[in-house]
Amino acid sequence: MRVIIIGCGFAGLRLARSLAKQEGIDVLLIDKNNYHQFQPLFYQVATAGLDASNISFPVRKVFQKVNNVRFRVTSLQQIISAENKIITDIGDFSYDVLVIATGATTNFFGNEKIQQSSFPMKSTAEALALRHHIIENFERALIAKTDEELQARMTVVVVGGGPTGVELSGAIAEMRKYILPKDYPELDFSKMKILLVEGSSETLGAMSEKSSEQSCKYLTALGVTVKTKTVVKDYDGTTVTLSTGETLQTKTLLWAAGVKGNVPEGIDASLIVKGNRIKVDRYNKVIGTENIYAIGDIAYMETPKYPHGHPQLANVAINQGKNLAVNLKHQVNGNKHLQNEFEYHDKGTMATVGRNLAVVDIPKPKLHLGGWIAWVIWMSVHIVLILGVKNRLQIFINWLYKYFTYDQNLRLLIRGSYQPEK
Ligand SMILES: Cc1cc2nc3c(=O)[nH]c(=O)nc-3n(C[C@H](O)[C@H](O)[C@H](O)COP(=O)(O)OP(=O)(O)OC[C@H]3O[C@@H](n4cnc5c(N)ncnc54)[C@H](O)[C@@H]3O)c2cc1C
Repeated sequence: MRVIIIGCGFAGLRLARSLAKQEGIDVLLIDKNNYHQFQPLFYQVATAGLDASNISFPVRKVFQKVNNVRFRVTSLQQIISAENKIITDIGDFSYDVLVIATGATTNFFGNEKIQQSSFPMKSTAEALALRHHIIENFERALIAKTDEELQARMTVVVVGGGPTGVELSGAIAEMRKYILPKDYPELDFSKMKILLVEGSSETLGAMSEKSSEQSCKYLTALGVTVKTKTVVKDYDGTTVTLSTGETLQTKTLLWAAGVKGNVPEGIDASLIVKGNRIKVDRYNKVIGTENIYAIGDIAYMETPKYPHGHPQLANVAINQGKNLAVNLKHQVNGNKHLQNEFEYHDKGTMATVGRNLAVVDIPKPKLHLGGWIAWVIWMSVHIVLILGVKNRLQIFINWLYKYFTYDQNLRLLIRGSYQPEK
C-alpha cells in the first residue's frame, strides 16, 4: 500500500511514526519544511525565551532507522484524485492512499491591510520574525524623533484572546517587567502599553468560566489592558482602529485572532466547511472518496459528542493520526471489517499567562486548577510532549535558568534573516 502523507505536523508525524516498519505499507511523507514544529511554544521563541531549534525537530532524524518511510521537502500543489496522484513542486507522485494533514494557517478574514502590516505566529519562521521585530522596535524607540513615534514603539496590541493571544501578551508583559528595563535603561517602561483585544466577552472563551476569569485577572495583574467585546477593524502599520471607534498608535500588532485550514487544490468545494476544513466521516475519510483521508486541524468531523467538529488541538491531531494508522494496518492485513471510528477523549485543556500563573481544566473528574500548581502542570506536560531528548533537556535548563535569573539570553538581532519593518 503506497501511502502519501501531506504535512508533518502533529497528525502527519504521528501517523507516519505509527506506520513505521509496518510490513506491506510504503510511506511517502511530504512537508514544505524539513522540520516538525511544536506550535504551543512558538510564543516563547517570539519573546526570546527559547531558541527556534528547541521547538523545531528535523524530520529526517525521526526516520533514520526506518526503511518504509521516505521524506521529501516540497509543497503540495494539487490533488488529481481521478488519477490517484498529487502534483508537487518537485514532480508528481502516485498513491493508493492519500492523507491530507496540512493543518491550518492564520485567518485575517480577508483584511489585506492587516495581513500586510501585522505579525502572525503560525510557524517557527513567523515566531522568529516577531522576535526580531520586538527587539528592533526597541532599538528604534531609542532614536525616536517624536513623542508620537516613541509611544507607537512602546505600545503592543495583541489581537485574539484565545490561548495564543493570552500567552503572548502575558510573556510580553513579563519582558517589560523583568528584562526590557535592564536592556534599555534610557527608555521609560512605565509608558509601555500592552493591550489584548478580544471580540467576545471573555479571554480563553473555549475554557471554563473560572479559567476565563482567572486568565483575565492574571493579565490585568501583569499590567495588560484587556479589551473584550472589541474588534480590530483596521491597521495601516501605525494606526489601529477598533470597533469602539477608538484609535491607537502602535508599530506592533500581533494577530492571533483565528485560523483557517490549508485546503489543497483538487478537493471538491462542497466538502469545505466553516474555517476552511474538509468534511470527513468517523474514519477520517474525506466524504465521497474511497482512498483520501484528512486528519488534524484540517479535518471536520461531526460526532454526537462534537456535533460542530473537534477543537483544533494537538491532542486531537495526534489521536486521529494514531487511529488512522490502526485502520490502515487493518486494511493492509485484510481486516477491513475491524476499522475503528474516531472518538476524542478530552484529557483537559490548559494555558499559561506567566511565571507561576496558568489555568488548567480537567473534565474527568471535573476540576479547575489555577496559579502555581497549574503552571507546574503546564510546564511538565509541554516538556513531555516536545520531540527529542535534547530539546526536552535544553528547554528544561532554559526554564530553570529563567526561573532563577528572571532573564533569557536569546535577544539577538540577526539582521540577515529578518526583513526590517514592513
Ligand atoms: C501559537 C499556537 C499555540 C498552540 N497551542 C496549543 C496548545 O497549547 N495545545 C494544543 O493542543 N494545541 C495548540 N495549538 C494548536 C495545535 O498546534 C494544532 O492543533 C496542531 O498543530 C494541529 O496539527 P496538524 O498536524 O493538523 O497541523 P500542523 O501541526 O499545523 O501541521 C501541518 C503541516 O503541514 C505542512 N503543510 C501545510 N501545507 C502544506 C503544503 N501545501 N505542502 C506541504 N506541506 C504543507 C506544514 O508545514 C506543517 O508542518 C497551538 C497552535 C498555535 C499556532
